[in-house]
Amino acid sequence: KVLVGNLIGEGHVNYVLMYNMLTGIRTAVSRCQAKIRRPLTDDDYTAAHKYSFDIVGNELTPSARYDFKFKDYAPWVFRVLREDHFNLDPADYLLSLTAKYILSELGSPGKSGSFFYFSRDYRFIIKTIHSNEHKYLLSILKDYHAHVRDNPHTLISRFYGLHRVKLPHGRKIHFVIMNNLFPPHRDIHETYDLKGSTVGREYPEEKARENPKAVLKDLNWINRGRTLELGPEKRALFAEQLRRDTEFLKKMNVMDYSLLIGIHNVQRGNRDNIRRNTLRVFQPVDFSERPMPMRRKMSLLKSQQAEAKALRRAMRQSDPRELTDRESDPAAALADRQHLVFYQDEGGMRATDEANEPMHQIYYLGIIDILTPYNTFKKAEHIWKGMSADRHKISPVPPTEYGNRFMAFLGAVMRGGGGAEKFKPQSRAE
Ligand code: ATP
Ligand code: CA
Ligand code: CA
Repeated sequence: KVLVGNLIGEGHVNYVLMYNMLTGIRTAVSRCQAKIRRPLTDDDYTAAHKYSFDIVGNELTPSARYDFKFKDYAPWVFRVLREDHFNLDPADYLLSLTAKYILSELGSPGKSGSFFYFSRDYRFIIKTIHSNEHKYLLSILKDYHAHVRDNPHTLISRFYGLHRVKLPHGRKIHFVIMNNLFPPHRDIHETYDLKGSTVGREYPEEKARENPKAVLKDLNWINRGRTLELGPEKRALFAEQLRRDTEFLKKMNVMDYSLLIGIHNVQRGNRDNIRRNTLRVFQPVDFSERPMPMRRKMSLLKSQQAEAKALRRAMRQSDPRELTDRESDPAAALADRQHLVFYQDEGGMRATDEANEPMHQIYYLGIIDILTPYNTFKKAEHIWKGMSADRHKISPVPPTEYGNRFMAFLGAVMRGGGGAEKFKPQSRAE
């Protein structure tokens, strides 16, 4: 079993949040999914549906264990994105995320304070985001939709949903659901997060040797002499998609995004057993273990029946496929990627030589963290960091410069691209 780690129950600080997120997703998504498809209107991009959950429940929301409010943003748009552009089976999506209330937590790997959760089959990531990022995603949703429609092979994160949980004391937590770039069934031997910025972009090499799960950065890539091994065919496709995606991000006025690359070496295989998610796993509490008042039991039962009905209704609109045990079948989990050029080899992209013949690496890659507009905060950071280091090599630079540097860097790291040495920071002359 892939998910190992400490089982964490009710007492965990984020257990309630996780429960509320999944209950909200399950209710809201199956409700939207149960309706007959209709063409999108402009209003759909700004629509938001509100749900209020409590332990009693009503005809709109099943009873829940906690009181909370849930907001589903642009439900029709995300439905179209999932079904038409991201090739997701609606029942699959809901079942992967919410059939059992288990998520594993990656904690907060970045500096931003966002939390990351994997669905139990490892296909989906829930990322909590800042309210600015949420506002920003809504503001570009129409452009984002147009971009993924025109670019089915985009490298940019696939967003499947945008939601908000509001806790009784008023705290609001926004989150997105997106694709996990990394596969459930393959060890990732090296991970890089590349921005094209080199100032401070190094994970300490001594620490990296002890930690196979370390996320390495631009300077590690250069110092280790890595190249992206792609033959002429894939190189051309990849460069063109990268160009289109970066042009889009420049136009959207964002920066700080990166190309995440996980490298699996097929000769090494899975023998090192680097479980990427040997993390904390949330385990739901079994209701049957504790005495429960009759009234509570009845309402729980009713809600479970209502949920089952909604789920069945949602499923009737898609292929009536066998649903049991699908989570443990990696082939099924990768089905939505099979037609995508950069994700079709075991869920990733096989390295190729100059004759376009396969090599030993499989790359799992994509552009992530695309929700940071170049706002006043970043402008200040740009000026501040620019005083102590080369103004063009630090990470916060304006979007056009950021995008051009990103593209140039990735062009240089591809085989035949000339290498990225010139991106290294020069020691300053007096
Ligand atoms: P910061 O703003 O400080 O960079 P963040 O909280 O916005 O951090 P991200 O940059 O989005 O976080 O991601 C942090 C790490 O989480 C990545 O380096 C990667 O290891 C992992 N990660 C993020 N998105 C994905 C994804 N779609 N698939 C697989 N791993 C991911
Ligand atoms: Ca980042
Ligand atoms: Ca970020």
